[in-house]
Amino acid sequence: MTRPTFSLCVYCGSRPGTDSAYEQAAIAVGQWIARQGGQLVYGGGSGGLMGTVANAALEAGARVVGIIPKALVEKEWAHRGCTELHIVDNMHDRKRMMAERADAFLALPGGIGTFEELFEVWTWRQLGYHDKPIGLLNTAGYYDGLLKFLQTAVKNQFMGDWQMGLIRHGSNLSELLAELIRHAGTSATNNMDQI
Ligand code: AMP
Repeated sequence: MTRPTFSLCVYCGSRPGTDSAYEQAAIAVGQWIARQGGQLVYGGGSGGLMGTVANAALEAGARVVGIIPKALVEKEWAHRGCTELHIVDNMHDRKRMMAERADAFLALPGGIGTFEELFEVWTWRQLGYHDKPIGLLNTAGYYDGLLKFLQTAVKNQFMGDWQMGLIRHGSNLSELLAELIRHAGTSATNNMDQI
């Protein structure tokens, strides 16, 4: 297999959610990564949207790197079909390794685990631990409420526009992904060892 052109770290739900649009988006992301010759980096689970994006990427011929803490191997049904499956000591190691292996990040619909991962990588970016692009795919308006609230935070000056600008968001998957990958190559800062 040739070397992947990029690694995209995808954060998403360990459940499928109610709207089939979420699953369709996860499939489309996996297939898009494969079509572009890229590699998926994700949390290594086989359930929910996590399993869906991994299976779609694998079936379409992409490399898939799964990274899961040992305590979650059973709980999240570690995906044994990953090209690389890393079983790490704890959640912190998982998230650091996912971030290190990625050229860009994308959050799909998900729950608190997804929110936490998105916000963490966003705060790491504002602090200068990395300068990799971050995307939020707003499938079927799932994140409308969150985006509205973030504007409330900007209006109340707990956040600046520049911080909001560190996240690219939209509902058009191929446009958003193309934009992330376009900016992924320019990443020069890597202070992840300071986390
Ligand atoms: P969820 O969005 O809640 O379905 O979780 C998606 C993924 O985020 C799962 O693989 C969780 O293990 C992971 N995750 C990452 N950080 C956390 C955290 N602090 N608490 C819970 N789940 C987390």
